[in-house]
Amino acid sequence: MISTPLVHFEDSYARAVPKLSLPWQAAPVPSPRLVVLNEDLAAQMGLDPDRLRESDGLALLTGRLPWSGASGSTGTFAHAYAGHQFGSWVPRLGDGRALLLGEVVDAQGRRRDLHLKGSGRTPFARGGDGLAVLGPMLREYIVGEAMHGLGIRTTRALAVVATGQDVLRGDAQPGAVLCRVAASHLRVGTFQYAAATGDPSVLTALADYALARHYPQAAEADRPYLSFFESVVAAQADLVARWMLVGFVHGVMNTDNMAISGETIDFGPCAFMDRYDPGTVFSSIDRQGRYAYGNQAAAAQWNLARLAEALLPLLDADQDAAVAAATKVLGSFATRYETALTAGMAAKLGLPVPDNAMSVEILDLLRSDGVDFTGFFRALSAGTARSLFADPGPYDAWAARRQARLGSDPEGVAAAMDRRNPVYVPRNHCVERVLARAAHGDLAPLERLIEAVRRPFEARPGLEDLAGPGPAQDPPYVTYCGT
Ligand code: AMP
Ligand code: MG
Repeated sequence: MISTPLVHFEDSYARAVPKLSLPWQAAPVPSPRLVVLNEDLAAQMGLDPDRLRESDGLALLTGRLPWSGASGSTGTFAHAYAGHQFGSWVPRLGDGRALLLGEVVDAQGRRRDLHLKGSGRTPFARGGDGLAVLGPMLREYIVGEAMHGLGIRTTRALAVVATGQDVLRGDAQPGAVLCRVAASHLRVGTFQYAAATGDPSVLTALADYALARHYPQAAEADRPYLSFFESVVAAQADLVARWMLVGFVHGVMNTDNMAISGETIDFGPCAFMDRYDPGTVFSSIDRQGRYAYGNQAAAAQWNLARLAEALLPLLDADQDAAVAAATKVLGSFATRYETALTAGMAAKLGLPVPDNAMSVEILDLLRSDGVDFTGFFRALSAGTARSLFADPGPYDAWAARRQARLGSDPEGVAAAMDRRNPVYVPRNHCVERVLARAAHGDLAPLERLIEAVRRPFEARPGLEDLAGPGPAQDPPYVTYCGT
């Protein structure tokens, strides 16, 4: 007999903006099996890991709320949203294979969404089967933990549950349901959808809700909606700069995959770059390189312009004045981004003050010599970077100029660099290796990789195989959406 509920859910979003949430139920999962449980995150959410492993926990993690020991909930919801996918307008996307279980106020008093992916078709599924495959869901778990370990705002997986049912992706693959935690699932595309309803009360309710939940300080400003927009611009400029500083390629920066909260979200085809090349693309469908590593800031700014368009009716009764105000705020993205990037690069390089020319110059050398991005910065602090260059001449000249700026405490500088430059990121060859083993039921390599990336700045003996690039691949490494 269970006396206390496993979790208490709230549904403030569905109440505040009912037109954007569709009550919908998860497909039954006849033989759920817990594959991974994020105990650290469970504890933060005030959830008992032992109970999550039991049958009511598994019911919860697969969206079967009536059997799950959840209280407060009025059901599960598929969210409506629109989006620009690779620049093309799609008026109705929505959660095709996802559901909001509910909002949980965590141990620190923060409201967070518990959300499923792979929980069956919804009315937004279009041609999709509503399902997800074990490997890609474990990949989302790995990358979310890595981003969190790197200090980058991100959604995180709470659990991955195997369904026992096969899913067709070319061949038959094991199905799974991911349960993830997010600051919210409000996207740029949510605002685009609300604006496109043509009902000003929907857009207003959404903006009021998002503002109160994510940027409450904006409510105090003279122009709260403009201040809200500015907060989102600032959060995205900071986020994308942080991605760039660790060599992260999101892969599918459509407007429906950009969170208003400023968290990294929906990073299905993402990957970390080994050899430095701004043109790096991993996603199978990104043939033009729209979301290449070096294009991410431009893509974010483009998405923010779409958010501005959606918000225009709220910014000023005079639409010309609204456009002028939004354009000015949008214009601050580039400065914010460049400032964050240059300061971050200075910290990575151990330079006492930001120096754009020094950053650009070394990145050019990394590119021309195909040097491993993550490895370079640790080698720099260790004094071994020279050996990474086929032609060390230009590097030597750069290094001499750097040396002249280091000051009197080079050891202190090296230690500070090592707190900024990860040893471990989830390298593609490592991710593929652990997923292949997980597919055969061996989760130990995955757990080991998770341990490494959760403390990415701390070099540990015995984990050397996780710290270096994979062999150069021809054709290059490829990732996939919607798996
Ligand atoms: P994504 O590019 O993964 O963010 O997905 C874009 C849209 O496609 C969202 O509306 C998803 O819910 C939907 N989607 C992706 N995969 C599937 C699937 N297998 N079944 C149904 N909908 C899907
Ligand atoms: Mg998405």
